Amino acid sequence: MLKPHNPNAFTRSPLDRAGHHRRDKAWLEDAWKAETTLLIPFNQQRPFVTEENGVVAPGWLGAHARAGVAGPNARWLFLGLDAAGAARFAIDADDPAKLEGLGRFDDLRALGARLSRDDLAILGPAKAVFEWHVKNGYCANCGAPTLIVEAGWKRQCPICSAEHFPRVDPVCIMLPTFGDKCFLGRQRAWPRGMHSALAGFIEPGEPIEEAVARETLEEAGLRVREVRMHSTQPWPFPHSLMIGVLCEVENDDETVDTFELESGRWFTREEARLLIAAKHPDAFCPPPFAIAHQLLKTWAES
Ligand SMILES: [Zn+2]
Repeated sequence: MLKPHNPNAFTRSPLDRAGHHRRDKAWLEDAWKAETTLLIPFNQQRPFVTEENGVVAPGWLGAHARAGVAGPNARWLFLGLDAAGAARFAIDADDPAKLEGLGRFDDLRALGARLSRDDLAILGPAKAVFEWHVKNGYCANCGAPTLIVEAGWKRQCPICSAEHFPRVDPVCIMLPTFGDKCFLGRQRAWPRGMHSALAGFIEPGEPIEEAVARETLEEAGLRVREVRMHSTQPWPFPHSLMIGVLCEVENDDETVDTFELESGRWFTREEARLLIAAKHPDAFCPPPFAIAHQLLKTWAES
């Protein structure tokens, strides 16, 4: 069951996407010029942020600043309407030097733990869509350069008319449990002691439950008996949708696939609580910002 209040970062955006305005050129043109409109500049998929007394916040600019940060061909994206009904846009600043001294462009992932929940939910989609634009300039059908349409949410081919929509890659991320213990894996590249949930891309034609069972068996040799949906998380690195589940397995004699993982380890519920509190003596888990933390937290506290 999905929870009414998704615990994950990058969810519950305060903006109304107001998708019906995306095709309304006259409305968009007025919104561009409105006094109340705010723009968030991006450069190379990094948002513009300000920092004051250690507090990081998105560097929103008024619509009047548009010409100052981006030329006529800059990519832009209509993000939606805020609670006051004002339009919010993201713009790919092709001349970032103009903002020098006012703030900085920084990596969204690195900023993750320092930005507010609302800010992450607004910036995440912009990061994912801008990244998709950079890598998808040509028509997958005929190879011609495509045009950005619908306020940044679509590309269209002027030659064969094919439509291309921003891509989302579904990934299942799961916490296998066996009685009163859970299994976490670790990858070679991770910092020493870090352990996390297992994860893998869902393949075409594969239901989520079967992907969970396949990945858990492949990575750890554990046979899944039951899959319980926990929550989902848009993860804009580059543009995944994490589907978090708790899964009960029927064996605890794991066989770790050392191509995917360096090792795996069982943790008792008490140890899981220590991981969540960052007090485990020789292991740690991802921060609250990551869905793996939330999966572990739910199980540890259940
Ligand atoms: Zn085409």
